[in-house]
Amino acid sequence: MAMLILSRCGFGRIKKMTNRIRLKKSLQSFNSYSADKTSFNYRLNANESPFKYQDIFNASALEKKFLKSMKIEDINRYPDSTQEELKDSILKFYGLKKGQVLLGNGSDELILYILLTLTGKSSNVLYLDPSFSMYEILTKGLGLKGISVPLTSGFKLDVEKVLKKIKSHDPDIVFIASPNNPTGNAFKKEDIIKIVSFSKGIVVLDEAYSDYSDFSFIKSLKKYKNMLIMKTMSKVGFASLRLGFLLGEKRLIDSINKLRLPYNISSFSQSVANKFFKNPFIIGKHIDIIKAERSKVEAFLKEISNVKVYSSDSNFILIRLKRSNALFNFLRSNDLIVKNFPNNKKLHDCLRITIGLPKENKRLMLLVSQFLNK
Ligand code: PMP
Repeated sequence: MAMLILSRCGFGRIKKMTNRIRLKKSLQSFNSYSADKTSFNYRLNANESPFKYQDIFNASALEKKFLKSMKIEDINRYPDSTQEELKDSILKFYGLKKGQVLLGNGSDELILYILLTLTGKSSNVLYLDPSFSMYEILTKGLGLKGISVPLTSGFKLDVEKVLKKIKSHDPDIVFIASPNNPTGNAFKKEDIIKIVSFSKGIVVLDEAYSDYSDFSFIKSLKKYKNMLIMKTMSKVGFASLRLGFLLGEKRLIDSINKLRLPYNISSFSQSVANKFFKNPFIIGKHIDIIKAERSKVEAFLKEISNVKVYSSDSNFILIRLKRSNALFNFLRSNDLIVKNFPNNKKLHDCLRITIGLPKENKRLMLLVSQFLNK
């Protein structure tokens, strides 16, 4: 389907764009795996064992109650492959229509699916540097061509540079994490919109950390047909569920769904996530605590001379200091781990500190003070 987009591009002129789904040729006439419904009383179709958790573990009454309340009594059964109930809850929350969401075993898996399916024209994939490493790892691992565009020295987005690369390489996919990991900052809205408008391929906006920032692109989905928004439950309290979701045009979602593994989301994850989406605002207080703690830790770090603190719209702060290695080892030897980047030249001397509970952040600040006074 051809879609005309009239847009003012970054080079100051109006351009006419055509967006076609760049589905891989091999997937164009293709039968995806089709799983049966799970609503039958007698299920003799999927080679499962008929014995339940309680038959194996001799479960206590309390355990049984828990399994029942989480709707995972039938742990011997495959999860619901249609994931309909959870998908409906997510769509309702975001005000989107049926067919506009795809679930992944973490957004990592969604990145893989996008690369496997929507790279049927140029096979080029553009991402920023530094950014979330899985874009590059999976692009290269799949034998696609990675186009890496450096951020400025202050880790800002150089929009003109991105547009130039899009013009010369016509990437099938552009990945932009905003807020960005590991730098923590969100990019300017208007710059991202320029990129989406200019790109003939798909732009994936990775909003893994948007709950900690002031902005989401959800409302722009209707307008920009080549935009996909990727989210995850990992950063707001549910990392072990492994649940990411992709929102966008039905035709794009349908294409990516072609290679989704049929049982990629466990029954437990579907059940907990469903419970969450009935009232997602319950985590609001936790987000507020993390943001307030982020300000405290940021203010503390800014007081230290010779430490560069990058401003953050995420639940972590990136810092740069000469003695980063020594500080990293000192913290480690005191049973506290932060993230270092020994193999990334752009992130030399950088440490990424996740904001924890108030007492954890206090401990971090105490240890940093001790390190400085040594
Ligand atoms: N995107 C970004 C920007 C991330 O930082 C991460 C995790 N570090 C992910 C995606 C993947 O998240 P998950 O697979 O846990 O959903």
